Amino acid sequence: MFDKILIANRGEIALRVLRACKELGISTVAVHSTADADAMHVRLADESVCIGPPPSKDSYLNIPSLLAACEITGADAVHPGYGFLSENARFAEILAEHNLHFIGPKAEHIRLMGDKIEAKKTAKKLGIPVVPGSEGAVGPDDDAMAIGKAIGFPVLVKAAAGGGGRGMKVARSADELLMALSTASNEAKSAFGDASVYLEKYLTKPRHIEIQVLGDGRGGAIHLGERDCSLQRRHQKVWEEGPSPVLSAAARARIGATCAKAMQDMKYLGVGTIEFLYEDGEFYFIEMNTRIQVEHPVTESITDIDLVLEQIRIAAGGDLPAAQDEIAIIGHAIECRINAENPQTFRPSPGKITQFHPPGGLGVRIDSAVYQGYVIPPYYDSLVGKLIVHGKTRGECLMRLRRALDEMVVEGIETTLPLFRALVREPGIIDGDYHIHWLEQYLAGQAAETKAS
Ligand code: ADP
Repeated sequence: MFDKILIANRGEIALRVLRACKELGISTVAVHSTADADAMHVRLADESVCIGPPPSKDSYLNIPSLLAACEITGADAVHPGYGFLSENARFAEILAEHNLHFIGPKAEHIRLMGDKIEAKKTAKKLGIPVVPGSEGAVGPDDDAMAIGKAIGFPVLVKAAAGGGGRGMKVARSADELLMALSTASNEAKSAFGDASVYLEKYLTKPRHIEIQVLGDGRGGAIHLGERDCSLQRRHQKVWEEGPSPVLSAAARARIGATCAKAMQDMKYLGVGTIEFLYEDGEFYFIEMNTRIQVEHPVTESITDIDLVLEQIRIAAGGDLPAAQDEIAIIGHAIECRINAENPQTFRPSPGKITQFHPPGGLGVRIDSAVYQGYVIPPYYDSLVGKLIVHGKTRGECLMRLRRALDEMVVEGIETTLPLFRALVREPGIIDGDYHIHWLEQYLAGQAAETKAS
């Protein structure tokens, strides 16, 4: 096992990793920018090192500073959390070159899944169902129109290097395709420095369903069921739940087994998420994330497996926590990502938290790094905290969530709490009858109502 882990992150995920380390008896090193000197992860870690000024590129993304912090403190492993350097294959390699352990997958797998075209080809080879589309990038010499017609309109033009929903354009007809190709390609070139784009069938009302996997790097791998993350705004997940309200146990077992088998064949190491769109009973692979995800507590609640703790154990050469047939899905869990944003305009609202009262009670978990008097800096993401609620059934979970949301107090800044209080009372949500465009349509409806009144 590791002696000392440096946590190359901030906010709630830094605290989450710190908790797992404490339970495992591993010393912790927090790193922070000058803007985060008063952050909770810095206070709770055994040691801390300031790694630079506020901009991420000068601090949390600053590899030489992180290496120096490892050297000074004698850390033997680095946990990257999510975001920042968590999917940077080069970072994993550089750590290895310095005899430091990267708590994450093999660099080759991070690199492979970071390229969407290669990831899709690999998924297909491994027997994972993919969205119908072009074979690889569509270049100037290809007959894009013929490919588009073969897929059938509407088609989606996507950037190979895409991320965060950027560099995507829908072409509803052949007439729109050439325009969509050049817009998406230009956008990809300026956002990612890579203009290559590919085509996919545009699914009109799919759900976003993702499978949590865990591999030991030696050919052993299991799946831990799914999370339904269909409630999104601008491709950002807002509400995640598991199990999905629309998936049968047989369908779960089928797609789960396909994913676990693929991970066995790859000899995948650590935690990962295979993301799908799901429409008319069919799964379509869109991408794989080779890191711990924001919404991992949903899976922890319904499987009673501590994913971050297992991630660390496995990185140190440990075995998988259970065999596939020992994994049971227990009850239902929902996570709300509560952001420091205006609940109507979603404008960020950094500043001082004057009152903070997290809800409690059976089945209620808060993953947050804020406290009363804490000032949310304007430089990073606007997550205030994640509220995760568990119940025996989805009905009980919703009942507890309603109560917990009403109980929670965050003052001094604007938050998206009012949005969740409304969502948890919406018939579409209560019935579990929603898809990836539901939330944006709902928000547009609310905005129109406000305007009219
Ligand atoms: P990114 O890496 O930019 O997040 P993804 O491929 O994960 O890109 O897609 C992000 C989101 O875009 C999905 O969750 C879904 O809402 C939408 N999307 C992606 N591919 C399709 C598709 N073929 N049809 C319809 N919607 C899609």
